[in-house]
Amino acid sequence: MPVFCNAMAFIEVVCIHCRKPDDIVRNGKARSGLQRFLCRSCNKTFQLDYLYNANQPGIHERIVRLTHNGSGVRDIERYLNISRTTVIAHLKDYRRQQ
Ligand SMILES: [Zn+2]
Repeated sequence: MPVFCNAMAFIEVVCIHCRKPDDIVRNGKARSGLQRFLCRSCNKTFQLDYLYNANQPGIHERIVRLTHNGSGVRDIERYLNISRTTVIAHLKDYRRQQ
């Protein structure tokens, strides 16, 4: 498992897309200054942490689950601390996939 030093501590990195711990390299920094990583297995990039909550892994599934449980767009906006236009965009995307 690749281990990277982020100036404070050593962290183990696993790809958030394919969950494989191999072949992960550092891939520059985002505009926010956070470290980006490249998975050479699936050739996708990711960050371990995001400034904006809508970019967190699994946010789409959480929006869909909350909608199925009867939460409205404004409820989801407040609960997940993301923009209501982002919530609507995710729901439109989910509708297109059905
Ligand atoms: Zn991967």
